[in-house]
Amino acid sequence: MEEADDGVGELQLSPEVMREMGYRAVDALVDRWAELPNEPAWRGGSRAEMDTRLGPIAPPPAGPSDPESVLREAIESVLPEAARIDHPRFFAFIPSAPSWMAVLGDFLATGFNVFQGTWLASAGPSRVELEVVEWFRSWVGMPEGAEGVLTSGGSVANLMAVVMAREIADSPDRPVVYLSDQGHSSLRRAARLAGIPPEGIRVLPTGPDLLLVPDRVRRAVAEDRRDGAVPILVCANGGATNTGRVDPLAALGRMARELGVRLHVDAAFGGFAALTDTGREALDGLGEADTITLDPHKWLFQPFECGCLMAREPGELTSVFGVQAEYLQDTELGDDQVNFGNRGVQLSRTFRALKVWMTVRTHGLDAIRRGVDHGIRLAERAEARIRGSETLELLSPATLGIVLYRFVPDEDDPDAVDRLNRTIQERVIESGYAMVSSTRIGGRYALRLCILNPRTSWSDVEGVLRRVETLGAELSGLPGRSVGAR
Ligand SMILES: *Cc1c(COP(=O)(O)O)cnc(C)c1O
Repeated sequence: MEEADDGVGELQLSPEVMREMGYRAVDALVDRWAELPNEPAWRGGSRAEMDTRLGPIAPPPAGPSDPESVLREAIESVLPEAARIDHPRFFAFIPSAPSWMAVLGDFLATGFNVFQGTWLASAGPSRVELEVVEWFRSWVGMPEGAEGVLTSGGSVANLMAVVMAREIADSPDRPVVYLSDQGHSSLRRAARLAGIPPEGIRVLPTGPDLLLVPDRVRRAVAEDRRDGAVPILVCANGGATNTGRVDPLAALGRMARELGVRLHVDAAFGGFAALTDTGREALDGLGEADTITLDPHKWLFQPFECGCLMAREPGELTSVFGVQAEYLQDTELGDDQVNFGNRGVQLSRTFRALKVWMTVRTHGLDAIRRGVDHGIRLAERAEARIRGSETLELLSPATLGIVLYRFVPDEDDPDAVDRLNRTIQERVIESGYAMVSSTRIGGRYALRLCILNPRTSWSDVEGVLRRVETLGAELSGLPGRSVGAR
């Protein structure tokens, strides 16, 4: 057989087929976008159901298939079997509603196969990441010179923050990290991965308002120091995932400086609210933190994955994460030509900044700000609607797009009320109308709305509240008890 001189032809598609497949993929995405509001907000199923729908797990084929049929199978069979996180009525967990330009940004970054670990390999993209993290710096109110790096998400950013605290404290034998009992679960994992021993991971009880109490932190730090341990980091919430609430950041910042302990603010979901007046007020003191976690894939309208760690002290990221290697000597080009691979844990990394940059440049910051504000306003309107309801009880007021509530039947057994609300939630999800999740507050089952999608309308939100009222009444066989205008 004659040897081809243009590589392995079998691993290539012709330009015509490449275009045709690309156009089809774009068409599928735009169709999905248009149809989304008419689709169920959630789809999925058990392992057995997936095995039935997708066929049992099989060895890979040795020979080729028609790319069109592979594409069709992905679009029609695989991708629909998942939650529509960007559905206008996806109110569960922390949703994400990417802009189209961001989706294209990811596509382009992948297609151009940008390696953004070093300036040498990605001068233009690295310049753009510098610009994007500079935007973030100004939005969160960190001083000039503060630096950032985009990450896969908030979990890695949180991990980096704990590692930084440990390294900067010179890896003491008995490090202690303070977390809020309302802190995100990824912080506990971060502490564990950073090698903080279990007895050094202090989960502090919050006050009745579910916020960290600076005096409690101060006392814990003093006790641990007396004990010979070395407090290295306080982690505060810049928007707790549970309730949206923000710890007293300004007071914690002052205290941390006084005590000589670092302050990390996990503002993964809430940080971009700083673009709005309401959010800026709520997040007062954010810029005082030593490190801040942000998740553009939550409230900055980016597709997964896109997180960020901001660090206040210039040079700190590189001093903790930077490494040198003989085979990378060509990449050392001077301080203003940043090797982003030395600011974090990934050497090979994609060009995440492109999607953010394209989104902000296309729509402008004013539109982004209004988009974030939209969620805050809808949650406030939901709160007012809940307060005015005969049968719904407000459990946590609207804060940064999150509101907690429940249906209150004429029933005194608290466990029965929990069960009823759980059933209501299941029915709402089963109906396909909306995806809603639950949490617990004060030990009780709470329904939770998290409203971050700029394409969500008031009727979407109201529709969920009305269904909860109706289902609650039906399921309890009662009209529900008036809880008054609390
Ligand atoms: C989502 C979230 C995280 C985790 O971020 P990932 O991007 O999912 O890794 C951490 N903290 C808070 C407050 C979050 O909302």
